[in-house]
Amino acid sequence: MVCLVCPKSCLLSVSCDQESFIVENNSCDRGLEFARKELTDPERMLTSTVQIAFGELPLVSVRSDRPVKKNELEILVERLNKMILTAPVQSGQIVMSALGENKVNIMATRTIEKS
Ligand code: SF4
Repeated sequence: MVCLVCPKSCLLSVSCDQESFIVENNSCDRGLEFARKELTDPERMLTSTVQIAFGELPLVSVRSDRPVKKNELEILVERLNKMILTAPVQSGQIVMSALGENKVNIMATRTIEKS
């Protein structure tokens, strides 16, 4: 697997059985932790867009304030796809809160004024 922690993108070699795993080719310990997390409890930051009514643009970019369980990403994106906000929306405004196991908040990443 490719380590996603830093731009070096080390190609990790991971072998495992039911009780343990071995990580090789990691240039630092963060790669070891990345592999452990990927194998046991993978998470990702969620980035997406949400529709806006009466705004200067039709969509606003959004992101989660912390990582989301990977197996919850699809259902959260589906919920965001069905959502329509009303302009104005401020950068940093929470548009959905306490989602999923990690209780993540989804926030706007730019300001959209009323048209
Ligand atoms: S193993 Fe370390 S150096 Fe390599 S990509 Fe991961 S964080 Fe970066």
